[in-house]
Amino acid sequence: MAGLSAAYHLDAQTHEVSVLEKSDCVGGTARSIEIKGFTFDITGHLLHLHFDYTKELIKKLLGDNIYTCVRKASIHSNGIQTEYPFQVNTFGLPQTVIQECVEGFKEAVQKYSDPELRKTSLPFEDWSTRTFGKGIHKHFMKPYNEKLWQTDLKVMTAEWCGMFVPQPKLEDVIAGSQKPPSKDYGYNATFLYPKRGGIQVLSEALGKGLPVQLNTAVEGVLWREKKIKLSDGTVRDYDSLVSSIPMMELLKKMPNLPKDIQTAMAQLRWTSVLCINIGVDRANISDRSWIYFPENQFRFYRVGFPMNFTPHVVPEGCSSMYVEVAYPPDQAPDFKSPAFMERIRKDLETAKILKPTDKILVCDLIPIRYAYVVYTAERKSAMEQITKFFWENSIQSIGRYGGWKYSFMEEAIMDGKKAAEKISASSPASVSPSLSQ
Ligand SMILES: Cc1cc2nc3c(=O)[nH]c(=O)nc-3n(C[C@H](O)[C@H](O)[C@H](O)COP(=O)(O)OP(=O)(O)OC[C@H]3O[C@@H](n4cnc5c(N)ncnc54)[C@H](O)[C@@H]3O)c2cc1C
Repeated sequence: MAGLSAAYHLDAQTHEVSVLEKSDCVGGTARSIEIKGFTFDITGHLLHLHFDYTKELIKKLLGDNIYTCVRKASIHSNGIQTEYPFQVNTFGLPQTVIQECVEGFKEAVQKYSDPELRKTSLPFEDWSTRTFGKGIHKHFMKPYNEKLWQTDLKVMTAEWCGMFVPQPKLEDVIAGSQKPPSKDYGYNATFLYPKRGGIQVLSEALGKGLPVQLNTAVEGVLWREKKIKLSDGTVRDYDSLVSSIPMMELLKKMPNLPKDIQTAMAQLRWTSVLCINIGVDRANISDRSWIYFPENQFRFYRVGFPMNFTPHVVPEGCSSMYVEVAYPPDQAPDFKSPAFMERIRKDLETAKILKPTDKILVCDLIPIRYAYVVYTAERKSAMEQITKFFWENSIQSIGRYGGWKYSFMEEAIMDGKKAAEKISASSPASVSPSLSQ
């Protein structure tokens, strides 16, 4: 999406643009798959928009093919479901858990009221314990984040949290421990989603009319010569290269990198996710948008239900879900073994999402090699070095994976826009070949 956006925002009158895409369709992580009447994304791809500019753009691109959805998200723990976010919705959990969460929060507020003591550059474990207290950390933040990030929480920082992790007031934590929730929290209380066609329709609308060359992979970036080698055997010149290839992969394609860049590159960390898209022969298997699973007894960390974003993504009388399993890169579980899917099915039954009588009509597994960038203490300086090196060599590496960050589609669109503006500012009226992935 970031690459498409860069091309979309470049003035074709003054710049010669090529978009090179290794796959046979546009969209990257924001694409959809149709199987037996089910439409799946690569897990859930919901639009959380913050800028007037992107709100207008999406309206222009999708017209009336869009729903505003109200989030219904839960956390499954201790055998029950509580509302999201956990920190203000402990009502219903065992009394000892509630007490630990509320007392822990009170203690944290007293000890760590100074924001300096809750800086996001702290190890996540310290930041979380100081921000939410020992109880909420123990019962949700620790198990959920260990499962998602597959990383020691002392090693990663909290720099990614920002808007993604709501930080409540004490009165809200207390209120949420005594009765069901009365107000919404978090950045995604409502979100947009295409009525038909999955998130692919947005990527296609953005790419419409752009000079996109599909099935064309960039295999080498000869950065000193400003040339790229393509999978069709050709070599092309560029003036300015905008890349949304995962940063790690882009660097691997660049021969003879300076030593300091190689050192910085060795510090980049990430996790992988397996997306399991499932179609079921029963309607309304859940009324939830998605459910978080912090406990280790469940193999997955989240299960979402596309048919609750829009009814037009499932055949009549059916339901669909995406199941997300995280793993360290290069330590993928044996997805193909029958035991793996038997375990997933058993866990879905334990969570009362599936019944033993339910028939699975579709089961499609999509590994996402670069899913979440892990924020470590070294990431910031490594990124600064690499970004400076890229900039000095007329390369902008953008988007969630190109920019090596925790972000979302709206930001990918804005990254592309900014990259185009930088190119226009540095060569306002020249006709120069620009390339973007
Ligand atoms: C599990 C998960 C859930 C998510 N949920 C949401 C959500 O609900 N809402 C949201 O806003 N965001 C969500 N995101 C984030 C969203 O997917 C990204 O922010 C956005 O799609 C990133 O777009 P991008 O263009 O930066 O990268 P990509 O989508 O990765 O695009 C990179 C493109 O480069 C192509 N490419 C790679 N290598 C080459 C090569 N050598 N040559 C040519 N082409 C190449 C790829 O095929 C791809 O098309 C989620 C991400 C994940 C992993």
